[in-house]
Amino acid sequence: MMVQNLDVVIVGAGAAGIGAGLGLTRLGVSHLILEAKQRVGGRAYSDTSSIGHLWDHGAHWLHSGDVNVMRFLAEKLKHKFRPASPAVSSFRSFIGGQWKVSEFATDYVWTKLEEIVQAGRNGSDVAAESILDRGHAMYPLLRHWCQLMYSNDPSDISTRDAANYSDTHVNLPVEDGYGALVARLSLGLPIRLGVTVKAIEVTGEGVRLETSSGTITAKACILAVPSRVMEKQRIAIKPGLPAALQQAFAEVTMGYGEKVALGFDRKVFEGFEIPFADVFDPVEPETRPLNFELHPFGRPIAVAHVGGNFAKELAQAGPAAMKAFAIDTLVKAFGADIRQRIVASAATGWTMDEHIGGAYSGAAPGKAEARKVFSEPVHDRLFLAGEHVHRHYMATVHGAYDTGLDAAYKAAAALGLSVGPKDPLWLPS
Ligand SMILES: Cc1cc2nc3c(=O)[nH]c(=O)nc-3n(C[C@H](O)[C@H](O)[C@H](O)COP(=O)(O)OP(=O)(O)OC[C@H]3O[C@@H](n4cnc5c(N)ncnc54)[C@H](O)[C@@H]3O)c2cc1C
Repeated sequence: MMVQNLDVVIVGAGAAGIGAGLGLTRLGVSHLILEAKQRVGGRAYSDTSSIGHLWDHGAHWLHSGDVNVMRFLAEKLKHKFRPASPAVSSFRSFIGGQWKVSEFATDYVWTKLEEIVQAGRNGSDVAAESILDRGHAMYPLLRHWCQLMYSNDPSDISTRDAANYSDTHVNLPVEDGYGALVARLSLGLPIRLGVTVKAIEVTGEGVRLETSSGTITAKACILAVPSRVMEKQRIAIKPGLPAALQQAFAEVTMGYGEKVALGFDRKVFEGFEIPFADVFDPVEPETRPLNFELHPFGRPIAVAHVGGNFAKELAQAGPAAMKAFAIDTLVKAFGADIRQRIVASAATGWTMDEHIGGAYSGAAPGKAEARKVFSEPVHDRLFLAGEHVHRHYMATVHGAYDTGLDAAYKAAAALGLSVGPKDPLWLPS
């Protein structure tokens, strides 16, 4: 493949790359999106085949759902999502052999999570762990929730980065699939699947990309790949990334997050009308807590979530170890008979995926301000997009989408086009 005379080439067809493609389409700028995988969506991926029912490997929730651009796009497309956050009372915990309605969560986990954010708001940029009591009996459960929310262990979470995240605490799960929503937004965009970009050279005229399918030249490039791909220099940039940017990729790295989905022969949690369950044994601090979503949208499935270094270790151990851990933990809470009801299982593989390499970005303690560099143009021709670039909606799909739109407008302006204000809800008719 030899493609020339494009205005802009976009690398990566996740939410950021698709946002960039829609922005450039609206501005009438010629472009092409290159995606290494055989599917679009990146970390937004709705799977309908592995366990016979839809579940999302990555993004599932419209976070800050009252102000989230993806929510309004979903409404436009009549893509179903749950209109209200789950009530706090819909969380239950199996702690030390007994079911408890989430009093521990409201009294302990949520209070401590809020203290992490508050410490950052008060100006301190320290490790979340340093303000927590690691000797507390519930600490492993709190650590589990830190891992789920930040994809990092408390020792790696910056209190200031946590405070910079803008959260309205409205969280709406997407019934028709968050990955499916992102894929719908990509329809009609010029996308080449299965094309891996290996090197980008900034030349006098623009950019020259070496890909698995040949060379592509364009006037500018939007790099919408995960921060781990950049940190590990899986795409060679010539004449090199500015030192400050390279340092920022080392300081704002990706954490880890994985899921295990289990399919049952019928609904198995009838009479247990609680959609979310944490299973944890404080008497055995080495026992790992595990959070499950049970029968999401009434489907006969359960989805287990792990994060942080534990997710990385499990992912490295492989899908069989991931599934065994999820099933063994489920059995602790619901009894051995539930094992016979499992007819299918599947595990995600974000950690080991060379084009992703983790869950989402988090600044190291003391480094919350490092993200600033990501929004600066590189050699006047490269523009970064992706969840890691957003200053307030980092780690999310809506944040990624917004940075893609931004990059499109910046690239068009750099090409000398006059651009008006962004319209985040614009879709081709
Ligand atoms: C387990 C998990 C749960 C999550 N839950 C939520 C949630 O509930 N709500 C939420 O808002 N967010 C959630 N997130 C985060 C959200 O999924 C991401 O923030 C968002 O999807 C990132 O979009 P992106 O476009 O920045 O990157 P990506 O979606 O990662 O897209 C980047 C694309 O670049 C491609 N690529 C990489 N290298 C190359 C190359 N060399 N050449 C060509 N293409 C390349 C990749 O294949 C990928 O498709 C979750 C993530 C995970 C992993």
